[in-house]
Amino acid sequence: MQPIYLSSLSQPELSEFVESLGEPAYRARQIFAGLHQRRLRSFAEMTDLPKELRAKLSEHAVISSLTLESRYLSTDGTRRYLFKTHDNFPVETVFIPEEKRDTICFSSQSGCPLQCTFCLTAQLGLLRNLTAGEIVEQIIIALNDAYGVSVQPPRGTNLVGMGAGEPFLNFEELMKAIRVMAEPSGLHIVANRVTVSTAGVAPQIRELAAIPDRPHLAVSLAAPTDKLRNELMPINKKWPLPELLSACKDFEKSLKPNERLTFEYVMLAGVNDSDEHGRQLANLLNRHELSAKVNLIPHNPAEPLPYHPSPPERVELFREILESKGVHAFVRKSRGRDILAACGQLAARSAPESLRSPC
Ligand code: SAH
Repeated sequence: MQPIYLSSLSQPELSEFVESLGEPAYRARQIFAGLHQRRLRSFAEMTDLPKELRAKLSEHAVISSLTLESRYLSTDGTRRYLFKTHDNFPVETVFIPEEKRDTICFSSQSGCPLQCTFCLTAQLGLLRNLTAGEIVEQIIIALNDAYGVSVQPPRGTNLVGMGAGEPFLNFEELMKAIRVMAEPSGLHIVANRVTVSTAGVAPQIRELAAIPDRPHLAVSLAAPTDKLRNELMPINKKWPLPELLSACKDFEKSLKPNERLTFEYVMLAGVNDSDEHGRQLANLLNRHELSAKVNLIPHNPAEPLPYHPSPPERVELFREILESKGVHAFVRKSRGRDILAACGQLAARSAPESLRSPC
């Protein structure tokens, strides 16, 4: 029989489970707080529960699906965690320390079904969708490692769904994880601190727009024309640019006053980074009257990907072309390249042994 993974349960589901054990409702609240607010990783640590209940819980349920396999520490302070699920699938998470507020980048799938030619995760193929619990646990373990068990991050935490996988192809579990993490009696990371990135699953962009407490949205473009985007991101054949951008336009209606839609654009030397590409991109966004901002991401190379990053001067010129046409553009700084933790580098690989740090 499949055990019950408690980290996957919403508060009402946990109450139901606790009731099925013949225990009073307030126990469910204690357990939820133990798991999500205090971020405890074993029943033994839940000392506010009677011993008998802890024994009963261990009999019927487990807390965690993820086991930490290795941890890598970049020279820039970024950390990469490589986990295995209970059934042996790889999951990766990246902790990025930042001046204002630290960011945790989580994965929504093990591997990825999309075949973006510039991304290493694509080489794994889809292994499986992650459960809500496996998403939440990534954040809990990264927080415990960064700050200590039960210690609140001093300046809060931003979450980005930009790790392995396509979040919108695992929509239900993703949204459940985001709801569980927002609980005031749990992690209390509100959706407003979460950004989810999609390669362009247009129907889910519209579905997300309709959710009241939704996360922010980023959309990966990588090319300004259907012809080039079909080559780089085969998902474009399913939802081509006109359809994708019309979904984005609809999404804009759901934006809050200070909120903006973000487009990500990976910069591949000699492929999508010419002045002409820049003008095409600006015209495309202006034609759809999108008041979005564009994040330019220099390509993070990894064997055997056939691309090189655009040189910094090229990226800067490209940014200026966008700006000159009224499109706000920023250059995203690459973090954790030396430990294969940067965008597009997650493929459950080992990094240099010197950068591995014991867990
Ligand atoms: N599947 C989703 C979530 C992944 S986010 C999506 O595509 O949006 C990862 C981001 O990194 C995407 O914007 C992607 O285009 C970008 N990316 C992928 N491979 C990269 C690479 N090698 N270098 C830089 N950015 C890359």
